[in-house]
Amino acid sequence: MGKQFNLKVHLPGWFTGLFSNAIWHLPSIEKVVYLTFDDGPVPGVTSSIIEILKGYNIKATFFCVGENVSKYPDIFNEIIKEGHAVGNHTFNHIKGIKHSNSYYYNNVEMAGRLIKSNLFRPPYGLMKRSQYLYLNKKYKIIMWDVISCDYDSSITPEKCISNVVDFVRNGSIITFHDSYKAEKNVLAALPKVIEKLIDEGYSFRKIEFEKTRPLYSATWIKQNKMRDSRTA
Ligand SMILES: [Zn+2]
Repeated sequence: MGKQFNLKVHLPGWFTGLFSNAIWHLPSIEKVVYLTFDDGPVPGVTSSIIEILKGYNIKATFFCVGENVSKYPDIFNEIIKEGHAVGNHTFNHIKGIKHSNSYYYNNVEMAGRLIKSNLFRPPYGLMKRSQYLYLNKKYKIIMWDVISCDYDSSITPEKCISNVVDFVRNGSIITFHDSYKAEKNVLAALPKVIEKLIDEGYSFRKIEFEKTRPLYSATWIKQNKMRDSRTA
């Protein structure tokens, strides 16, 4: 199959240009790719993904939602224990463009208190440019260049597989989801994607991260939350 342009899978240059210092892929002369999983951790799906990765001895990167980490700390600890990387994906999976900057930063920071990572991925890949510029000072903003669309229940696992293997290149950051919405597709597609990429000579790496300390005190978060609820 040809490597045709697909807007859903490949993001256009004008869009990536808005967040020019964000990381869309990690250019490499080696055949290396980075598997990433967004929106967990949740019981069942996340654990199954951890098992699949373990079977191939692959380390990946999980962009976690703080609310899920607070509900399921054991699964989050399992991700860490298995040697995977973690990143911040906000506390409530919110869209930056719909919220004030202080509300958004609070939400990121609430998640940061649990996730403690210098990697950040904005939900939906969207935030205001001001939010991007601010968060880029503390976090490495990790986007993606290949997305499986596993969350789309109208597509089959086979389509998810081709969304990845037809567009992958050296250093690609590939996005899947450890969510209930994606469960059927991700659990069926992931082992096949891994095997196809191994056959093509790729190896898999996690995105290295550093442990972070909270940016703001708990009092700062509380005050700003109150301010936001008054102005909302
Ligand atoms: Zn997400």
